[in-house]
Amino acid sequence: MSKLAIDIGGTWLRSELIAERKEPVQEKIPSHSVSLEAYVESMLQTHTDISEVAISFAGQVDDGTIVSAPNIAVKEYNIKKYIESKYPVTLKIDNDLNCALLAERTRTKTAFIALLSIGTGMGSAVLEKGSIVRGAHNLSWEIGHVPFRDAPFQCGCGKHNCLELFCSGSGLEKWYTYYGIPSMTLEALRSAKTSEAMQIYTAFKEALLHAAASLITLANPEELVLGGGVVQANPWLESEVKEEIGDYALASNLAQLTIRKSTIQNASLEGAKLL
Ligand SMILES: [Zn+2]
Repeated sequence: MSKLAIDIGGTWLRSELIAERKEPVQEKIPSHSVSLEAYVESMLQTHTDISEVAISFAGQVDDGTIVSAPNIAVKEYNIKKYIESKYPVTLKIDNDLNCALLAERTRTKTAFIALLSIGTGMGSAVLEKGSIVRGAHNLSWEIGHVPFRDAPFQCGCGKHNCLELFCSGSGLEKWYTYYGIPSMTLEALRSAKTSEAMQIYTAFKEALLHAAASLITLANPEELVLGGGVVQANPWLESEVKEEIGDYALASNLAQLTIRKSTIQNASLEGAKLL
């Protein structure tokens, strides 16, 4: 028997096929090149010994149903019910940040973690007394869609003022398009001297500090873990946050807090395996 773990983000779909006494087989393809449902079905048809499928999904998921996905074009439906009715497998699916948090939980002694992820989008997840805080319908801690300030374009969620529009990979691309300037790395943006670049970078950093401080002030974690592709590619963001967070978060909440970068490659996929 084998097991299939999938992490579908705004940019990449990563998977790992795990079979007994065999090396795991990993795959990475652009997430827009295939629908999640089609990918799962093609894997189940090719590898008929798969008994369990676990999916880390970059969007809102409640009890097997994909509720919304700001950065992935996917129809709203109950993928668990659909796949389990058609194939002899069990399928588990959860939000990608919750999955990443499951992976982070295995690397630390604390039971109080706030995870802030900056990748294609911005997301967060909170661990309290060792359990993931989920809300009534598994939709809590959507920090990326908290209002920050008005932007001249729309977020994937339909609003125009989300933190994610200022501090995420997709948000930066929207600003480059808006100002008609070429795409650049965050590192290049930070050192660029044009007024547009300075404006975009200043807003990026303020949104990052707002998100981090909100998590620290509202969730009162012992660890704030910074993760996601943008943080992995720009590890210096950790010190930028540490230097200025005192101006944004409550001092008492900062007193016993550790801020650190995630040390896990593909934490969401690792978390999917833990589902
Ligand atoms: Zn939004």
